[in-house]
Amino acid sequence: MADEWERYLRQQIELGGAEVVLSEGLGKASRPEQSEGSLRVTPDRDLDMTSPQPIPRSARDDARVLVRESSLSSPEPSTVRPSDRLTGWRKGAPPIPGPGLAVESPEHHLLGDDLASLSTLEEVAERIRTTHCCGLCPHRINAVPGEGNPNARLFLVGEGPGATEDAQGRPFVGQAGTLLNGILEAIEVPRDSVYITNIIKCRPPQNRKPLPDEIAACIPYLHRQLEIIRPKVILALGSTAAEAMLGVRKSLGELRGKVHTYNGIPLIVTYHPAALLRNPNWKKPTWDDVRIARQLLDR
Ligand code: URA
Repeated sequence: MADEWERYLRQQIELGGAEVVLSEGLGKASRPEQSEGSLRVTPDRDLDMTSPQPIPRSARDDARVLVRESSLSSPEPSTVRPSDRLTGWRKGAPPIPGPGLAVESPEHHLLGDDLASLSTLEEVAERIRTTHCCGLCPHRINAVPGEGNPNARLFLVGEGPGATEDAQGRPFVGQAGTLLNGILEAIEVPRDSVYITNIIKCRPPQNRKPLPDEIAACIPYLHRQLEIIRPKVILALGSTAAEAMLGVRKSLGELRGKVHTYNGIPLIVTYHPAALLRNPNWKKPTWDDVRIARQLLDR
């Protein structure tokens, strides 16, 4: 058991956690799920299922706490600079960081797909719903192509559908989705103004991480969705999304805090909302990341 804890804590650090609190706090909220004597680290998408752990506060409250912690400081001094008068998400927002990786999506003929002939998001979604491209497809209830504004300026990418998403055929509609809605609200970006999708469009068994061949089979859809929308900013939620989009294997800690580009579009990496439900230490860095993305939208 001690070994498994150590491995779990190492994984948390690898994911970029600023610190790991080894106190009573490790009790319910951040402890990996235990089942029948064995320790199981809950995958992100488990949190989408309707039954497991209740979220301690509502996602909206979580977002409010993020805003409050970072924007309410001491009373205004007598000499107030214009930047001190900022309110809401702007107050204390970090500066836009320097450049990171620059990637170009592969050409369709190199990917061996014919998706370039699909000119609308609905055509791409229909192709996803009616095609089996990897071993996950036959087991889905619904494919989850993605949803949102065809003219979205902000494009969000998660890992893959969980149980609720599989049941409804829509992305981020479980607990992680509720938190994501709160985060978007906090940066004053309505959910219906963005586009949200995942690296893979079908739920993996037991919400395990997608395998490399599943990602390779599905990612051409994501490339095409991005070509059609041409958003102003991309936000990669979690390491699976970040690594798949940037084509690297690096920890989330290494990928955060930079403005990468994907086909010239700024790409910011942050924690997956489900990870925040497990580890509140990651809320502050996430709040910083999304405020960087928000500033890039204004640029
Ligand atoms: N987690 C994801 O990565 N995607 C979803 O759509 C829901 C939860």
